[in-house]
Amino acid sequence: MGKILILPGDGIGKEITGESLKIINYFKENINIDIEIEKDLFGGVSIDKNGEPLTRSVLDKAMDSDAVLLGAVGGPKWENIDHNLKPEKGLLMLRKELETFANLRPGKVFQALIDASSLKKEVVKNTDILVVRELTGGIYFGEPRYLKKINEKKVGVNTLVYDEDEIRRVAQVAFEIARKRKKKVTSLDKANVLEVMQLWRDVVSEVHETKFKDVELEHLYIDNAAMQIIKRPSTFDVILAGNLFGDIISDEIAELIGSLGMLPSASLGVNKAIYEPAGGSAPDIAGQNTANPIGSIMSLAMLFKYSLNLDNIHDLIETSISITLDDGIRTNDINKDGKAKMVVSCNQMGDEILKKIDEIKSKFI
Ligand code: NAD
Repeated sequence: MGKILILPGDGIGKEITGESLKIINYFKENINIDIEIEKDLFGGVSIDKNGEPLTRSVLDKAMDSDAVLLGAVGGPKWENIDHNLKPEKGLLMLRKELETFANLRPGKVFQALIDASSLKKEVVKNTDILVVRELTGGIYFGEPRYLKKINEKKVGVNTLVYDEDEIRRVAQVAFEIARKRKKKVTSLDKANVLEVMQLWRDVVSEVHETKFKDVELEHLYIDNAAMQIIKRPSTFDVILAGNLFGDIISDEIAELIGSLGMLPSASLGVNKAIYEPAGGSAPDIAGQNTANPIGSIMSLAMLFKYSLNLDNIHDLIETSISITLDDGIRTNDINKDGKAKMVVSCNQMGDEILKKIDEIKSKFI
């Protein structure tokens, strides 16, 4: 039914994807979900063995899979090598080859961790935002781009460019997802100053008018949005943004949630997708079995939802995480207030979540 390629990568990548793999194996063995799994090297570990972060053979396997579950790449060992051979380059190549144009980053506040947010409890309560960020266009890719001396003066240039098709396809993803959630899309732009953002606003409105009138659409200028998200986070549902604004706003929303280790992400293409936690390879805690695997396990939940259409499995995993946190079980990174009933290792957190999945599965399946 589904083919998943697991690329643990470097640092804590191996530890956290190990916990997600435990959960996949549980579903395979206990509820007969038909999933084929392959695992391979990616990032720094692939450089060590093959001389490059992403080999042709791994790319072919990714192309042949329904989804890729990734850990993280990079680390001090590979910091000083040629830029084109760096682990992070493999990540960019993979996203480009799979044409994953829509990046999804949920910002859902778990009740049990509400104190970890830098905002007041009553403001952040019930916040459940999903950012849909355009990932393969905009100012990060636009041409011309350069940094050079012109008439003895240094000049830097980047180009913010979108065509209507690029905007339309990502807007469509945002509206389709909103339809399954609280039916609201907030689109961010700077249409008052930038022509390309006027096009953004026009195309988003057109997609709304022609296909998604049952979903509420709100347009906000990015500067106003940055304020409103802090002021009234729980009133947002799906936030749609271009590459640059989406990058910034999704980190702002991450801060509402508490820890980087909690945050999943999905990058969707037409028939391909990459799922990975938002954090990096965390060299400072790698190999210690203390990393928080929840970002990876939540990424797996998204994989079940968006690539395998198993919304019930997504909900089962998310609810199990929520109950585990309610029980006061925490990894180090989410125990800054010292209020955990039990501080657990990466392995133990995976086991605890799996225990809850087993206990409550009949309500979802
Ligand atoms: P990082 O995200 O790896 O770590 C930042 C801080 O967050 C660290 O203190 C780390 O311990 C903590 N952290 C991150 N994930 C955690 C988890 N699951 N559980 C507990 N704590 C967690 O960022 P960095 O230190 O700037 O980068 C380290 C390496 O990772 C670099 O080589 C960087 O290029 C790479 N990186 C990779 C990705 C990716 O693979 N998508 C993303 C960001 C950074």
